[in-house]
Amino acid sequence: MSEKTIEKVVVIGGGPAGLAASLYIARATLAPLVFAGSPPGGQLTLTTDVENYPGFESIMGPELIQTFRKHTMKFGTRIADKNIVRVDFSKRPFSLFIVDSAGEEEILAESVIIATGAKALWLGLESETRLRGKGVSACATCDGFFFKNKDVAVVGGGDTALEEALTLTNFATKVYLIHRRDSFRASKIMQERVKSHPKIEIIWNTSIEEIIGEQRVEGIRLKTVESVKIGSQSELARTDNQFQPISILNVSGVFVAIGHKPDTDIYKGQVAMDEKGYIITSVENAIRSVGIGNQLESVQTENRKRKTDFNLNYRTMTSVEGVFAAGDNVDYVYRQAATAVGMGVEAAIDVEKWLELAKNDRV
Ligand code: NAP
Repeated sequence: MSEKTIEKVVVIGGGPAGLAASLYIARATLAPLVFAGSPPGGQLTLTTDVENYPGFESIMGPELIQTFRKHTMKFGTRIADKNIVRVDFSKRPFSLFIVDSAGEEEILAESVIIATGAKALWLGLESETRLRGKGVSACATCDGFFFKNKDVAVVGGGDTALEEALTLTNFATKVYLIHRRDSFRASKIMQERVKSHPKIEIIWNTSIEEIIGEQRVEGIRLKTVESVKIGSQSELARTDNQFQPISILNVSGVFVAIGHKPDTDIYKGQVAMDEKGYIITSVENAIRSVGIGNQLESVQTENRKRKTDFNLNYRTMTSVEGVFAAGDNVDYVYRQAATAVGMGVEAAIDVEKWLELAKNDRV
């Protein structure tokens, strides 16, 4: 019976992080196999114009992904537009599984890079889906520039929403910050900045009922949300009959900032992650241990609970030796195509070094 092939490096994810990682690995003659997902491409394939990727003054998101794919394939990367549905990282070589017409198929790998990204959460309105890329966005850094001297709205009450609102003040004339409760969950410092900013107007206890516009966003219809006090917490009253349409706001852009969900469900119990599902790499573990960039007590509590040892020689390595992670499934702060590319490159360099140095220790 023939021995099953063991891949040297499998990259899971066909967005900027995964494809950048594969390019470096391919050029190191390690012939990576990328599982790009189905449909492939990550969040960039859902965007229209990209104007902040260095080297491209303006390019459509899907075209940028195609350019990345062509580039890495030129150096020998194999790309399968399939989803990994299950993994077993408890032993080496690692097992990864895809499902095809014949059932579940196992792929064996000496090393793995997880670059599955994260998805922005959306409100779930039909008008929001229809007008995405036509005034509806989930990234002020990417799209704020298109709203110079215009009025815009941001939805949400976490750090991301407040950061988005502040970013947009660099472009927009006025920024409405719409939050469904009467208090923010964002850090105090961000709250103070937003509350004292002359261009930002906070609209409390309100949600968006509909985004108005046929070809482009022209306005939003708002509804009040009654808050009820439970203990010291303000809780959202959820019954529909408490929602009353109150007003129409004329804005040209709507930035939805109600959180992200990393695509990491299948890695639960396999690698260390935080309570939101972000994978913790060794550098991220170090950052969280001292609380850099976070005012969140929960991060430190979670860190104390986590007893996993990380190999500090490899910043992008997860809690499992030989499994690395890069891009938006790790990064909850920057979330840019360019930063994902950078993280992918770091992971590739780590993998190459690890395969070389650790080969004597491996079975
Ligand atoms: P988040 O903290 O989960 O906040 C999401 C916000 O969206 C909440 O205010 C929530 O309202 C609101 N929301 C959720 N679903 C909604 C819906 N269907 N309709 C209207 N509003 C809705 O998410 P995040 O702001 O993206 O932050 C994620 C994590 O990253 C946090 O730990 C945050 O501190 C961190 N972060 C850090 C930085 C930084 O350090 N520079 C920057 C950004 C984010 P409720 O409050 O009513 O639940």
